[in-house]
Amino acid sequence: PYLAPDARIYVAGHRGLVGSALLRALQRQGYTNLITRSHAELDLTDAAAVERFFAEARPECVLLAAAKVGGIHANHSYPVDFLQQNLAIELNVIPAAYRHGVQRLLFLGSSCIYPKLAPQPLKEDSLLSGPLEPTNRPYALAKIAGIELCWAYNRQYGTQYLAVMPTNLYGPGDNYDLNTSHVLPALIRKFHEAKQQGAREVVVWGTGTPRREFLYSDDLAEACLFLLNLPPARYQALLATAEQPPLINIGVGEDLSIRALAELVADVVGFRGALVFDPSKPDGTPRKLLDVSRLQQLGWRARVALRTGIELAYQDYKENYL
Ligand code: GDP
Repeated sequence: PYLAPDARIYVAGHRGLVGSALLRALQRQGYTNLITRSHAELDLTDAAAVERFFAEARPECVLLAAAKVGGIHANHSYPVDFLQQNLAIELNVIPAAYRHGVQRLLFLGSSCIYPKLAPQPLKEDSLLSGPLEPTNRPYALAKIAGIELCWAYNRQYGTQYLAVMPTNLYGPGDNYDLNTSHVLPALIRKFHEAKQQGAREVVVWGTGTPRREFLYSDDLAEACLFLLNLPPARYQALLATAEQPPLINIGVGEDLSIRALAELVADVVGFRGALVFDPSKPDGTPRKLLDVSRLQQLGWRARVALRTGIELAYQDYKENYL
């Protein structure tokens, strides 16, 4: 593998859904020299502080999972924060990594930065092929700028910076606040509370017909380490071209309807009542599925089945949120 067991690896954003999964995966795989800083210890929007940190900690590899993230409501309410903070994090961390000799860096993108109407399943080359979803445009533009910056460094300075594009994620440390969460953690909480209260029905937003793909956060982390540890020639081939930014989709390659998801979550949680759909709530995009053929051709596949992942997430919810 590319990374030695004692390589100095910096996980930025190690308390988040993705960063915490990356940290667990690195620990499972026996890496001993992991570098983390909490938000209180290091504000990544502070350029001078980031520069001091790199000079002192000297990471050899960076996993950039720190970002300002949130659901549709947060994106709508705080567009300045989403644009500005994400740009600042990228503009501080990526150049500092280069200045301090980091050759491989993984930058976390997201499937929601592809154009709103791009053909499904979404291929990597759909990036910038059409208008963005207006509700998260500030976030998307900042992330696209980060990808462009990785690409620019690769071309100008020969670095090997790669952007990974995960599909919808879930897992330990998810957000269970019903106002700001995504559908899967929201359903876990709703069904759990309904079961506790002996409610007869649970309201599921929208019509139940939109389709979504869900990846367990530990699977994403495994995919990231798999990519980072690709032999030089295969890794280089991923970054390559002058026409195509260095990015790769990470997903499971299949989706299901919100109705089927709700039935599955209800079953795992043990809620036996009725599902009531509320079409006055927005359905959002009809389908969001990534084309993961590039990743699969490299030999990686997601391992955690959806039902198993929901069981693990439900366990985490009961242990850590109640
Ligand atoms: P999206 O993938 O960006 O559209 O974000 P969400 O995860 O928030 O929503 C996905 C789908 O699940 C949409 O069609 C929602 O209407 C539907 N949905 C059903 N019940 C809920 C719920 O309780 N919370 C959320 N966030 N979405 C729900």
